[in-house]
Amino acid sequence: MALTKKQLADFEKQLTDWKAELEVGQSENMHSMQEQEQTSFPDPTDQASMETDRNFDLRIKDRERKLIKKIDQAIERIKEGEFGECDACGGDISLKRLQARPVTTLCIECKTAQEQEERTRLD
Ligand SMILES: [Zn+2]
Repeated sequence: MALTKKQLADFEKQLTDWKAELEVGQSENMHSMQEQEQTSFPDPTDQASMETDRNFDLRIKDRERKLIKKIDQAIERIKEGEFGECDACGGDISLKRLQARPVTTLCIECKTAQEQEERTRLD
């Protein structure tokens, strides 16, 4: 693996901080949702827009939860010494790509191939 110990430590710190940030957001959202639950809206339009907001919140929260899981897996890979290895071909993921997206498990070639395959299936 081309990554140095220092680079791995930096990635681990970056991922840990990122996760902590997301977790704060998760509990804040939870809190505000409980508050909304207790508020009643006599105007049905308000009620409707509130529900749209809540669905939006839930979607974001769901995405964040999945991201937290990915961050955990990335931290795990750092510990296992597998960080930066492509899941599909076993090759090195470029440092530039890891810096842009540290939770990635695929090198750019495999990711592109996967996306093309997904697009073909949708068509
Ligand atoms: Zn690959």
